[in-house]
Amino acid sequence: MNIILLGPPGAGKGTQAARLVADRGMVQLSTGDMLRAAVKAGTPVGLQARAVMESGGLVSDEIVSALIGERLDQGTGNGAIFDGYPRTAAQAESLDELLAARGAKLDYVIELAVDEDALVERIVGRFTCATCGEGYHDKFKQPKVAGTCDVCGGHEFKRRADDNEETVRTRMAEYRAKTAPIIPIYEARGLVRRVDGMADIGEVTAAIEAILDGR
Ligand code: AMP
Repeated sequence: MNIILLGPPGAGKGTQAARLVADRGMVQLSTGDMLRAAVKAGTPVGLQARAVMESGGLVSDEIVSALIGERLDQGTGNGAIFDGYPRTAAQAESLDELLAARGAKLDYVIELAVDEDALVERIVGRFTCATCGEGYHDKFKQPKVAGTCDVCGGHEFKRRADDNEETVRTRMAEYRAKTAPIIPIYEARGLVRRVDGMADIGEVTAAIEAILDGR
């Protein structure tokens, strides 16, 4: 089963993908994570992507589709969860080609429907454990013991450089202009399922699992 999680920044794509990985042995393919790793490692792709990411703009279709192709070649276990890809019509086309070349296809496009006004607050407050990646939020989910990760006991936390209000506004505008228009393309193919992304994290997961199980 191969699915796309689609929705604006802060809709909960990464959070839900991590849960599906844990529950179902699926594999998360996040171009944002891949690009951040490339920036950190100082690879040629990272050097090219860095400034664009800091501005909230989109990295080139060629770069991200190449990253996805390379990742698909490593195998995807019980299925791929595309998180933050595709973000443009050209990427959607590339994804079809990349999957077809590997004898695979898309099963669902799950749209996380959210109230955009709430997203900025969600995004600017979020941070993760630097050791295990567990997600937290200043307002909605502080660690149980201040300064200590609930999951691994780590004491270091990090925030994304692009999780500030100005960049978030640009990322939202990019979503509206370039990513939202690919939804009708998938709708025409009967692939889209809409989930209320404003519900509790667990309820969103349950709704997605019900779709994947054909319930
Ligand atoms: P994300 O972690 O998905 O929010 O992505 C963070 C940033 O990485 C975005 O704001 C873009 O600059 C870049 N990025 C991630 N995925 C893509 C993509 N599929 N196409 C273009 N740029 C991307």
